Amino acid sequence: MTIGKILIANRGEIALRIHRAAHEMGIKTVAVHSTADADAMHVRLADEAVCIGPPPATESYLNIPNIISAAEISGADAIHPGYGFLSENARFAEIVELHKLIWIGPKPEHIRIMGDKVEAKRTAGALGLPLVPGSDGAIADLDEAKAIAARIGYPVLIKAASGGGGRGMKVVPDESQLATLMAQAGSEAKSAFGDATVYMEKYLGNPRHIEFQVFGDGNGEAIHLGERDCSLQRRHQKVLEEAPSPVITPEVREHMGGIVARAMANMGYRGAGTIEFLYENGEFYFIEMNTRLQVEHPVTEAITGLDLVREQIRIADGHPLTLRQEDVIFRGHAIECRINAEDPRTFVPSPGLVKHYHAPGGMNVRVDSGLYAGYRVPPYYDSMIAKLIVYGTTRNGAIRRLRRALEEFVIEGMKTTIPLHQALLEEPDFQSGDYTISWLEQWLAREEESE
Ligand code: ADP
Repeated sequence: MTIGKILIANRGEIALRIHRAAHEMGIKTVAVHSTADADAMHVRLADEAVCIGPPPATESYLNIPNIISAAEISGADAIHPGYGFLSENARFAEIVELHKLIWIGPKPEHIRIMGDKVEAKRTAGALGLPLVPGSDGAIADLDEAKAIAARIGYPVLIKAASGGGGRGMKVVPDESQLATLMAQAGSEAKSAFGDATVYMEKYLGNPRHIEFQVFGDGNGEAIHLGERDCSLQRRHQKVLEEAPSPVITPEVREHMGGIVARAMANMGYRGAGTIEFLYENGEFYFIEMNTRLQVEHPVTEAITGLDLVREQIRIADGHPLTLRQEDVIFRGHAIECRINAEDPRTFVPSPGLVKHYHAPGGMNVRVDSGLYAGYRVPPYYDSMIAKLIVYGTTRNGAIRRLRRALEEFVIEGMKTTIPLHQALLEEPDFQSGDYTISWLEQWLAREEESE
C-alpha cells in the first residue's frame, strides 16, 4: 500500500464509513469539517481534523483551495470524496491529481462524460447499453422536437442536458403542449444549471428504478456486483433500497450484469460506479451513470460480502480487482432505510439536539450514522441522519428483521422518518415487492386523503 493517510472530503455517515474502512486497512484518516461540524463523530474519530470554513457548504465542503491546503498541511496522500459535494466534480479530481495526491475515484474524463447527460447517453449507446428511445443528443428547435416526438410517440419527457435532482424535466402529454413545455424546460434549465440545452426521451409510464454496481481496475478489467432496486422514491429521492430486486431473476442479472461489466471494461473505467436504468415490461433503459460510491452501497455489501470502500481504496492504490466475476456470489437479501430528520408526513426538516439515542443491534443489523446523545444535528446540510441496513437469508426474513430493528431504534429530540418506514413495511404491495417508481407518492397521497 502506498496510501498511508486519506483525507475524507465529506461529512456525516459517509465520512465515518470511509474512516472505518481506512482504519481496518491500517490507513490514517484526516477529517475536514465546517465550523458547524466541530463536534461531529467523523471529526472525533479521525486521526486528525482540519477546519475548512464556515457552515455553508460552498465555503467549506465545496471549498477546493481549503481542502487541498488541508491535505498538504496534514500530509495526506489520497482524497476520498464520498458522495455528493465534490464527488462528481471532474475539475476537483484533476486538481487533486495535479497536486500529486491520489484521487480515490474514477478517471476525471469519465466523471466529465457522465456528468453531461447528452454525452453520457451517447457514450452509453456506443458501449452497447440499451437507451430510452429519444432524440440523438440535444434538440435544436420545435420542428425537430415535433418530428422526434411523432416518431417515438407521446407522452414524451423533455430533460435538461445539465440536469440533476429531477429539475428541468417536463412530461409532454401531446403535441399541443410541446411548444410551451419545451420552452419552460429550457428556461428552468437555464436558471438552475446555466445551460438551456434540452433533449427528449419517451416517457415511461410505470417503470422500476434498477441500478447495477460496477467496479473497474482502469486497465480494461471490470465486474458487476448485481443490482439494487431503488424504486421507492419521493420527488426522485430514494427512500428505501433493496438488493436483489424482487423482480430480477438470476438469468436476467447475469445477462444485464454482463452487458454493463463489458461496457465498463471497454471504457477502461476505474473504481466504483453505478449504472442506473428504468426497467419496464422486461426491458432496461439507461438513464444515467453515477461515477462515485452511492448512499445505498451497503445493500450490495450485505449480499456480496465485499467492502466497497476498501475496494475503492485498493483500486486507487493500483491493485487489481479483489474478485473475478465468477467469484462474486449473491447470497440472501438486504434492505436499507434512509432515516431523515424530517416530519414523516410533511417531510419538513427537523434538525436539533439528540436527547436520547439507541441504535438497534443484533444479528445482521447495521447502522451507519454519526448520531450520538447530546449531538446537535446542524440545519445546513442534507437531512439524512442514519441508514439502517438489515440482511436476511430471504426477503421475508429481511422484512421481519427490519420491523424488529425499527422498533428498537430510539432517536429522541427530533422528528424522523422511522414511522414512515414502519408503515411502509406493513403495505401488502411492499411485502410482495409489487411497486414501481410512482408507487410511494401515490401511497403518500392516499394516506393523506384517508386522514
Ligand atoms: P436527475 O439527474 O435529474 O435525477 P434522471 O435522468 O436520473 O435525472 O431521472 C430522475 C428520475 O426521473 C428517474 O429516477 C425517474 O423517476 C424519472 N425519469 C427519468 N427519465 C424518465 C423517462 N424517460 N420516463 C419516465 N420517468 C423518467
